[in-house]
Amino acid sequence: MSAAGPNILLVDDNEENLLALEAILEPLGHRLVSVTSGTAALKQLLLEDFACILLDVQMPDLDGYELAELIKRRERSQHIPIVFVTALSKEEQHLYRGYSAGAVDYIFKPIDPSILRSKVAVFVELWEKNMQLQQQAKQLHAQELAAFRERSEERYRQLADAMPQIVWTSDIDGKATYFNGRWFEYTGTTEAGPDAWHAVVHPDDLPAAVARRSETLRSGDTFEVEYRFRAADGSYRWHLGRAVPIRNVQGSIDFWVGTATDIHDRKLIEDQRSFILAVGDTLSQGLDYRETLKRVADLAAGEIADWCSVHIVESDGSVVQLAVSHADPARLTFARELQERYPESPDALTGMPAVIRRGEPELIPEISEEMLRAAAIDELHFDLVSELGLRSYVCVPLKGRDGVVGAITLASSESGRRFGAEDLLLAEELARRATTAIENARLFRAAEERAQAARVLAAIGDGVVLVDRTDRVRLWNRAAERITGLPGAEVIGRSVESAIPGWETIEPRLPVARAGQAVRVESVPLEIGSRELWLSVSAVGYEDGTVYAFRDLTEERALETMRQDIVATVSHELRTPLAAIYGAALTLRRDDIDLEAQLHEKLLEVITEESDRLAAIVNDLLLASQLGTGTIKANIERCDPHEIAQLEVDAARTHLPENVELALDGPKELPPVAADSGQLRQVLSNLIDNAIKYSPQGGTVKVLLSPNGRNVRFSVTDSGLGIPAADQRRIFEKFYRLDPGMSRGIGGTGLGLYICRELVRRVDGRIWVESDGASGSTFHVEIPQERPAPHPNEQRHEAVTAA
Ligand code: ADP
Repeated sequence: MSAAGPNILLVDDNEENLLALEAILEPLGHRLVSVTSGTAALKQLLLEDFACILLDVQMPDLDGYELAELIKRRERSQHIPIVFVTALSKEEQHLYRGYSAGAVDYIFKPIDPSILRSKVAVFVELWEKNMQLQQQAKQLHAQELAAFRERSEERYRQLADAMPQIVWTSDIDGKATYFNGRWFEYTGTTEAGPDAWHAVVHPDDLPAAVARRSETLRSGDTFEVEYRFRAADGSYRWHLGRAVPIRNVQGSIDFWVGTATDIHDRKLIEDQRSFILAVGDTLSQGLDYRETLKRVADLAAGEIADWCSVHIVESDGSVVQLAVSHADPARLTFARELQERYPESPDALTGMPAVIRRGEPELIPEISEEMLRAAAIDELHFDLVSELGLRSYVCVPLKGRDGVVGAITLASSESGRRFGAEDLLLAEELARRATTAIENARLFRAAEERAQAARVLAAIGDGVVLVDRTDRVRLWNRAAERITGLPGAEVIGRSVESAIPGWETIEPRLPVARAGQAVRVESVPLEIGSRELWLSVSAVGYEDGTVYAFRDLTEERALETMRQDIVATVSHELRTPLAAIYGAALTLRRDDIDLEAQLHEKLLEVITEESDRLAAIVNDLLLASQLGTGTIKANIERCDPHEIAQLEVDAARTHLPENVELALDGPKELPPVAADSGQLRQVLSNLIDNAIKYSPQGGTVKVLLSPNGRNVRFSVTDSGLGIPAADQRRIFEKFYRLDPGMSRGIGGTGLGLYICRELVRRVDGRIWVESDGASGSTFHVEIPQERPAPHPNEQRHEAVTAA
């Protein structure tokens, strides 16, 4: 029995009795606790357990029966056997009371020690049995509990093992105490040590994970971190690590339960999505696709592969590497050297050239040594390629609308990444986007070139017309509009015959050169409305039709006609006086006939007059040419209009035909004009001479002077041939004559009015004609009055106004 072995409580108010009891029971070897009152007994019973109580019946304040009742009433002590020790009577009545109070037995005084000892021994044994039973019950309970716990733990374990996630537990210091089956299966290790997870987390992710773990161990917060776990095959997959603390009833942490869930696919999709977004961003950052593709290669080499290269098919069909990218510049240099030493053959059966040729992607999830050996040109090549440590490879064509425009190659090395079907899909998406960027940029450039060409066509001075195979006008540039006066809107889209009048007669005269052939230029007339145009046209055929370029020759043509007319007129005008002079001179030289003195005189007069006429024609020619080149200056001075008119009228009167009268009219007091007096006289002289010359039937020629606003007007009126309205402007053109063939017999060079207009312009005057076309004409000339120098007062006034 334990130290807490059976105690026996002795209760008697008489110390001697107690001593006697103690003496009797001593030999049993139990612990005896003696008290001298009922109260002390009750107190003692609260403190410890007793195998039995020996109770004196007669005690002063609380007698044995009362005490027994109290003992029995208390739960803790109700089963303790009570033995009354009494010297009282053995009467039934007492016995009854004792039993009803809970007594188990009576011992009567004088006490028989052996009986007392044997009775107490029985109770002790009973107590001990009872204790034993209790002990056994306790043990049984504990065993059942342990079994139950084991069973439930096993169940948890089975549950944990059945889970597709990695599950682990750790103690409060974070040291692993358990890993589930998935852990061993995934990692391929048997390692389950306290820090086993450190060995499988990707070295790049470990420091952050460890730091976060220690933080949560300290704070008791949930641990949550994304890291890569190495799988049995050496590849890494992204996992979400989580651990929650399990707390006991007191609230302190008992242990941790952790899980690691495979989020690789989700993470990849996320990464791919953000990669594709970044690619889209980069590609949209400009139209220089060479530059943007380089940046995309850099992006890909960090995000989805270790290596990325981009090849482009140029317009001449050659394949050019646009970019090659790797995070480590040293590796890049190495790769470039390798490429220079062993350039890729365009006829290679595999790899980028084959992908471009066939337009089909190529995926090699695992590059084996045999593959490298098979592809190597020689031992050195093999060594160098092995040095790159390529593990996996995917190459996708950039398929444009009109064929393959390039290829993107992704390769993995140190990351150990293995490309699969999903990576191929991603690469193809990347290729699609890159292709769009390339094609957009190329289209843009082509459009730019076209726009440039269109701008040039629009700006060019020659008319350009594009007629397609169905004879429709497709292009009609601005110069074509200007030259022909036909707006593009009326021409473009219509058939060329209906759009351009007279086309059917012109077209057969235009030889169409093929591209590369020498172009022949033809001059053809074109009548549009009332205008006759002369165009020099060249035609070049191209695959979709014919391009015509033309230039306006109308003016050149007109000039040419004019030149021919001048030669005819001038030579006629020169020939007439020359013939007269020659005839007169010949007659004078004849000695076979005797000339009368009067005739002699007449012939000399003819020679003088015709020489003057010749000189006048030559002067006019010279003056007109000087006016055309701008070498004649007006020497502006103050001229009296009346005086000048009078001088010219007087001069004309000297050779006035008999049937013509000449009159000058108008006030003598006219404001002076600002002009070159010599030139003004020449203008008036020409007008008066014409008025006389073009009045073959005779009549009156009036010269009228009048002030008109700030000008003075000189008007010369005749009653001669008149000038039709259509010619009233043109008669002021150089060499323009109404009757070039001189059917009316009136000669002239067509220079007089041109000279008048040019001289009048030089003094800011104007000249025009009024005529009904039949009964004479009036030529008006207005010359600005000379403005007097401003009066001093006026000057001041002007200054003030200006201020
Ligand atoms: P020219 O008299 O030498 O031919 P001008 O330049 O002086 O040249 O005149 C140009 C043309 O204008 C003449 O050829 C003539 O037909 C016409 N013309 C000029 N003055 C008159 C006029 N007073 N009456 C009728 N026609 C005229």
